[in-house]
Amino acid sequence: MQLLYGRIGIDDNQLFTAVGDRFVPLSAIPDAARLLPDSCCDVGQVLREGVWAALAETLRISSVPDFAPTFTADQIHVEPPIIAPAKIICVGHNYAAHAEESDQEPPSQPVLFAKTSNTLVGHGATIDYPSSLTAELDYEGELAVIIGRAGSHIRREKALEYVAGYTIYNDLTARDVQLASSQWFRGKSLDRTGPLGPSVVSTDELRDTTGLTLETRVNGEVRQSARCGDMIFSPAALIAFISNGISLEPGDVIATGTPAGVGHSFRPPRFLAPGDVVEVTITALGTLRTKIAE
Ligand code: ZN
Repeated sequence: MQLLYGRIGIDDNQLFTAVGDRFVPLSAIPDAARLLPDSCCDVGQVLREGVWAALAETLRISSVPDFAPTFTADQIHVEPPIIAPAKIICVGHNYAAHAEESDQEPPSQPVLFAKTSNTLVGHGATIDYPSSLTAELDYEGELAVIIGRAGSHIRREKALEYVAGYTIYNDLTARDVQLASSQWFRGKSLDRTGPLGPSVVSTDELRDTTGLTLETRVNGEVRQSARCGDMIFSPAALIAFISNGISLEPGDVIATGTPAGVGHSFRPPRFLAPGDVVEVTITALGTLRTKIAE
């Protein structure tokens, strides 16, 4: 299943499922709605309720009623699929070519850092350039892993059983703020610098991410192009490493790192500017678009 969280006009936010190229509110599919809590909810709450797999199976076998309204993606004001994950764990230098352009050796173990949920915005958001703090806002297109169930000390062979699905992340970074101190946290967690989405595709539909391709474009110009299988540490390896000491919870987000081609790597650098549109496309997951306000 592919779940999107957002709203039509002035309605409340709700979950939608993709049917072909249109979206149907889960509330209009009785067998699905029955599985959800009364006041529902983002993808994070579905995961915490423990009904993810049942919902996927229900949507796989149930037909959409004739009376159900359907919407195009453009009609929906999209929110991040998970509003307040307990953790957003990011991975640095996880593609050899990006490590090299950052003047780093490929790491011998995953380089972890965190972002906070004040960063999250949905697909289609317009964000202000944080110009009082940075002159070097940069993009980082990434595959995001959504954790589906709690676990710790997870073995690598079992790791993908803990994944609910996948989505797209743009680890927007205030590069000058990031590199002003040895800790990257501030430059990585400025408000609204974490576009996530547009939707979550569940693992029953997307089992293996190694063949996916990732492309980041700025105003239509391709800046990053890579295969997700070129990661140094795979999603399974990352889950095994992280969960050895940091318990994972449903709804946690693991951003698996960015490939080569960030703005910082160009000579001269090509950081984002007001008015730019950044799009990150991953095959099977769609396109995550963010506009930097004029
Ligand atoms: Zn990143």
